[in-house]
Amino acid sequence: MVIEPKIRGFICTTAHPEGCREYVKEQIEYVKNKGTINGAKKVLVIGASMGYGLASRITAAFGAGAATIGVIFDKPSDGKRTATAGWYNTAAFEEFAKKEGYYAKTINGDAFSKEIKDQTIELIKKDLGKVDLVVYSLASPRRTTADGTTYNSVLKTTGDTYTNKTIDLRTKELSEVTIEAANEEEIEATVKVMGGEDWKDWMKALKDADVLEENAVTVAYSYIGPKLTYPVYFDGTIGRAKADLYRSAEELNKKYSDVKAYVSVNKALVTQSSAAIPVVPLYISILYKVMKEKGIHEGCIEQIQRLFAERLYRADGTVPVDTENRIRIDDLEMREDVQQEIERIWKELEHDNLEKYTDISGYWHEFYKLFGFDIAGIDYGKDVDEMYSPESLKV
Ligand code: NAD
Repeated sequence: MVIEPKIRGFICTTAHPEGCREYVKEQIEYVKNKGTINGAKKVLVIGASMGYGLASRITAAFGAGAATIGVIFDKPSDGKRTATAGWYNTAAFEEFAKKEGYYAKTINGDAFSKEIKDQTIELIKKDLGKVDLVVYSLASPRRTTADGTTYNSVLKTTGDTYTNKTIDLRTKELSEVTIEAANEEEIEATVKVMGGEDWKDWMKALKDADVLEENAVTVAYSYIGPKLTYPVYFDGTIGRAKADLYRSAEELNKKYSDVKAYVSVNKALVTQSSAAIPVVPLYISILYKVMKEKGIHEGCIEQIQRLFAERLYRADGTVPVDTENRIRIDDLEMREDVQQEIERIWKELEHDNLEKYTDISGYWHEFYKLFGFDIAGIDYGKDVDEMYSPESLKV
């Protein structure tokens, strides 16, 4: 198949196997060049095929030399359509892990379901015995609970309707967007999907099955961001879900004395999930510009490598946290000089100065890369094998 990008709304419906493979390789090289991390050795990553979860799996394996089990929710190619990017990323991850002698197996299915939890536990028991790190990195628009109810998360504000600048990334048109306030039902649904309930269910299932090492660590990811995006993020429905995640970490720490649960607050980055949030892509394209100019820009892999090396697995064994027990690797994004510059730009931003003040081309480049496109050295006119699959998922 010769594969081209097909953008529909916030997503790209095609993915390029060789491009994805190259992007995974690039991330692996980055981690390897950073040196060995004295970290976890048997790692479960839930949501392991894209974004922060994929970066976590790569860092665990190629930084700390860990055996990894990844839970993903992806589609193989049927010969007519390409596979999802996460499928190809996982194929590449397993290929490179195998080459270097690292155990890597993947379970494909709905991580919210009991069935997938059971399958994962069975695999841990069979192959690893126990795990010492559980990374929870799901980003999903919906969740079906055990009683069959499906909850859909919404990206709305809470309280009053909110209006601010936004950008149509495709036409590069600056416009205003008004975000409606969510009702209680929508807030609850978003908390059900993106809050901590399923993380707690996973930890209970793993604990009950006795597949957690003593002093195992678990980490889930969150975002806070500046006041500028508070109405749509921190004070929005997603922020409510993240508040529930913090409470869940606390509960886990109280309930299991031999497990350490953390939430790591990460930087805003272009991923499939963040592209769907109004206002945020414009903020990200200014953030990229400012952080690149200051030489402190990071992607998922730089963030997670730093999370492992400088937070979770430091030589002195301490884990630096803020006053609310959260790990902060959004420290560079939240630096005062960075945020002051963004605020200034935000106020001055008009259609005519968009190119000057924002990194829209950088945004698009990152977006295409997520699906294996726009990657140097790949010949996109070439026929490629769309059936490229993770070794452990081949039937
Ligand atoms: P992403 O869309 O890149 O990755 C999400 C992963 O979850 C994918 O691998 C996807 O296949 C998997 N997934 C989704 N539903 C699933 C299901 N039902 N079963 C199994 N796997 C499933 O998202 P991301 O941006 O990396 O987000 C991961 C976490 O990081 C989220 O909690 C998000 O809030 C947080 N975070 C993101 C940002 C950001 O700017 N992107 C910043 C800080 C924190």
